[in-house]
Amino acid sequence: MVQVLLVEDDVAIRTALTRALREHGHVVTSLASGMPALSAAVEQKPDVILLDLGLPDVDGADVLSMLRAVSDIPVIVATARDDEAEMVRLLDIGADDYVIKPFTAGQLNARIKAVLRRTGRTDEDPVLTVGGLSIDTRSYEVTVDGRPVELARKEFELLLALARRAGEVVSKRDLLSEVWQLAWGGSDRTVDVHLSWLRRKLGESAAEPRYLHSVRGVGVRLVAPEVAG
Ligand code: CA
Repeated sequence: MVQVLLVEDDVAIRTALTRALREHGHVVTSLASGMPALSAAVEQKPDVILLDLGLPDVDGADVLSMLRAVSDIPVIVATARDDEAEMVRLLDIGADDYVIKPFTAGQLNARIKAVLRRTGRTDEDPVLTVGGLSIDTRSYEVTVDGRPVELARKEFELLLALARRAGEVVSKRDLLSEVWQLAWGGSDRTVDVHLSWLRRKLGESAAEPRYLHSVRGVGVRLVAPEVAG
């Protein structure tokens, strides 16, 4: 189980996120201000910290700087400001990732998992399976019903991003961010093109999908063929 320290002064957001993250199977401690959070981070050593920047006692960025002086616990910052210069500054002072308000618990959970993987703190099974599809994240081998499928790097990463959230509709925005590291800009067309290559290699098409289902105007969902409705 992942121990999450949630630092957020807005009680409605804090309550909703705590509940949602617990539903995702995490152990959540929540605090409403910066200095107690700093003590808790050092004493409890959570696996990951979600840090709101607008806190009543200390600016979240200052909390992050102070934390980085003593700890390398992964930190995801939550901000209302969709401002590239600000994001770069936060990443420079030691944030591992960020979410822009308003964000969903599903998005946050995906970011938490991504940060834990990047920092080598995950116990994820190295082989993901969805129906007859198998993805080995160590050897980069993909098979469908036992048949090997050769994928280019971005096709593999796209498939993996979808498989890690199998059953969920993942937005193209999230895919551009997770697979292409394009937090801003980037075109849905990039996703569409790679999706079409991926479909061909998996032996399906948009018109006759098996695993990869486009949900118009929302995103893409990967499901095992037998449960696709
Ligand atoms: Ca706040």
